[in-house]
This record gives sequence, structure tokens and C-alpha cells, in this order.
Amino acid sequence: MKICIWCRKNESQVTFDKKAHTIPRSLGGENICENVCDGCNHYFGSPQPYLPASELVLKEMLNISKYCLLKNTNSIPKNKRYKSEYFNINWNNFHIRLKPRYSLRIGFQEKLGRQFRRGMFKVFLEERERQRNDALSERFDFIREFARYNLGDFPIYIQVPRFKAVFTAIPDIENPQIRFTEHSDEMDKEFRIYRYPLLGHTFLTPTSRMFDELCKDNFEKHIIKTNDVAGISIKRINYAEDIDYTFRHILD
Ligand SMILES: [Zn+2]
Repeated sequence: MKICIWCRKNESQVTFDKKAHTIPRSLGGENICENVCDGCNHYFGSPQPYLPASELVLKEMLNISKYCLLKNTNSIPKNKRYKSEYFNINWNNFHIRLKPRYSLRIGFQEKLGRQFRRGMFKVFLEERERQRNDALSERFDFIREFARYNLGDFPIYIQVPRFKAVFTAIPDIENPQIRFTEHSDEMDKEFRIYRYPLLGHTFLTPTSRMFDELCKDNFEKHIIKTNDVAGISIKRINYAEDIDYTFRHILD
């Protein structure tokens, strides 16, 4: 019997008819999580009072990098133009601006940041279920509270790159996905963090509600001590502008 990883209701209580894409289809995601009920699936794709849908925010923010990487490898299909609800982009100098009707709204940048973090946790837990089948574990309750019920606040980090290069294979740009590996299991065990490449960036998702208090210092020391190839430090994503979407500092 299916149990929804978000609301914990089962097939006798809720329906599971719709396909729940773990990474939004609008970003090219193809993977489906079977154990997401229609109500919860609908929730992530719908705007809430005074909040844009977390799925839309994820797509809007990461699509800039996707387009940028495709542009860089000359693999943008002829009929595809960059379209965005929130951002204006000058592709000559890679400058990004929030459209005036959004930048003038008080607190909108913070809202984008929060919805982005919730969306990243949503992707994590659904992929965790798809690949490891243990999303219902109690240790992920904080992710359910934050991503599905908008309670509390938990960090998503991005790693500041060490090298002036972006390594991403074209299939991973067109149909982005994240993978759980032996290495990621070890990191999870040692530092309670899941680190993965996505659209040219290295993102980090805490796997414990106490990551900041108990594990962050050790992890940062580990990065320095090992000359970590993934990057020199970690940066918390608070605002939409905390991500270097167009890789300006790398590709300049
Ligand atoms: Zn549900």
C-alpha cells in the first residue's frame, strides 16, 4: 500500500493518480516519485497566499543556469527563447534583474529565497524516496514540516567553487537529476549533509534538523583541511541573488 511521504496518508485515504515529478518537468526533470499523493503534489505546484509556488521558484531560478550552460555549449534549440516570469536578463553582460513589478514588492527577495529552499528540500526528499525508499524516516520530519507545511526555516547551501570551470555533461543539463551514491552516504553519516551537482552548481542539503548547531563547523573544517575540489567554502542561500546563476565569476 502506498503511503504519501509528505502527509503520511495512505491509498485508502487519498489518491495517487497524478505523476509527481521530483525535479520540475519545466526544468527538464523526468523522474517520478510514486509515493506522493495528489493533494501534496498539487500543493508544491500551486501558489499559496502571498507566496509563489516553490516549484515555480525553483524552475525560475535554476532555469537561468540551465539556459546559460546550454548557451555556452551552443546547444540551445533554435525555437527556444529564454522566458522568465521574475527576471530580466541581459545576455551580453549576463546581468540579472528582478522585474520591477517584483523588485518593488517589499520582502519579495526573501520570499523567493525561502520558496527556493523549500523546493530544494522537496526535490531531496522525493528523490531520497525514489532511490533509497526511506523518506518516511523520522529524521526527515523537519523536511516535511518546512517543505510541505511551511513551518520553521532550514538552510540550503551552495558551495563556492574553487576552480574557474563548470563541469556538466549536456544530458545532465537537459534532463537534470540528482544521485545518491556511496560517497553521499558517507557524507550523510559523517556530516549530516547531502551534496550534489545540479546545473553547474554544487548544492548542499542538510539531512538533520541540527546540522547548523552540530555539524556545520566540522564540515567547514573538513572542506579546508582536505582542499575540497568542490569548493572553498559554503554559502547559505537567503535571497534569490545569492546564487551566481550565470557563472559570471567563473566564466569572466
Ligand atoms: Zn500527501
